Amino acid sequence: MTPDNEVRFRACLDDVAAYKPGRPPARTDGRPTYKLSSNENPYPPLPGVLAAATEAAAQMNRYPDMGAVDLLEALSARFGVPTSDLAVATGSVALLYHLLQATVAEGDEVVYAWRSFEAYPIAVQLTGATSVRVPLTDDARHDFKAMEAALTDRTKVVIVCTPNNPTGPVVRRDELLAFLDVVPPNVLVVLDEAYREFVREPDVVDGVDVYRDRPNVAVLRTFSKAYGLAGFRVGYAIAHPTVVAAIRKCALPFGVSHIAQAAAIASLGVEDELLKRVDALVEERTRVVDELRAAGWEVPETQTNFVWLSLGDDTVAFAEAVQAEGVSIRPFPGEGARITIGEREANDLFLSVARAWRT
Ligand SMILES: *Cc1c(COP(=O)(O)O)cnc(C)c1O
Repeated sequence: MTPDNEVRFRACLDDVAAYKPGRPPARTDGRPTYKLSSNENPYPPLPGVLAAATEAAAQMNRYPDMGAVDLLEALSARFGVPTSDLAVATGSVALLYHLLQATVAEGDEVVYAWRSFEAYPIAVQLTGATSVRVPLTDDARHDFKAMEAALTDRTKVVIVCTPNNPTGPVVRRDELLAFLDVVPPNVLVVLDEAYREFVREPDVVDGVDVYRDRPNVAVLRTFSKAYGLAGFRVGYAIAHPTVVAAIRKCALPFGVSHIAQAAAIASLGVEDELLKRVDALVEERTRVVDELRAAGWEVPETQTNFVWLSLGDDTVAFAEAVQAEGVSIRPFPGEGARITIGEREANDLFLSVARAWRT
């Protein structure tokens, strides 16, 4: 019980674990350090994108366009969806918060695979709703049979992360469609496609196709990863107008800054160049996975900009060994580590530790 003279907070906050941001690497005797812990894009901004953002900064005394009209129109043209089916917010995580605020409260259940994105349990907890976590299969994929079995009368939302952070595999089109067929139409299914641009698997589900005739599906995407705008905080949702309207009601006014809107629009304008960088990262991903497997590691299929190593009790020691080379990665103690595909030098440093670990 909180004493009478202290501020009373909602009980659901009690169990919220603090979000652990990716740790910047510790300095190592003047050698360069690298951050492979937050799935960021290692490339600096393209000149045109930087120029658009710089120019937009000159208007910092004005509020941004609350309707993000120009950005919604650019997204509309890019994906062939009406602007009524689009919402933007300060990162796709913000859109998830808005969706949950719009749908759940105490007594409701939100089903998602686990392990998956660390933001999910926190976002659900803050609403007072209950997380129902369904273990991944042995090959680190969503277990849709088990997720179906986890649906109850209290289920209001299901979150599907494809490809899955932190393990890497995608959800295939056929398996998602079969699952959607058994989810009641009044349950919202959030399809988190933060890494969509890194996917090379042809059988992957594509949210932009799937949502069109499914009013209970909301697709979340982001400019943070492939487009290299993590620091500017822009994500977008694609869903039917009723879902989009609910998001807009929950949105913070003027959330996405003018600078961020300008940078996102400019990024869509130079998408070909940005996606060439994604191609290079995908090639580098193949190299890293091949080298890890050649060294005897079991690596789940990854369609993202990171790899997952199932390290169990060795996780923390492994992360410290990589850290000692000036490279920070993301350990999940007792389970494994997620390593972002970054600059080639950084990947090589990580690989040198990984190779030595197996011998
Ligand atoms: C990085 C990431 C996001 C994107 O977050 P932003 O808020 O858009 O930066 C969303 N979902 C998953 C699974 C992620 O890994």
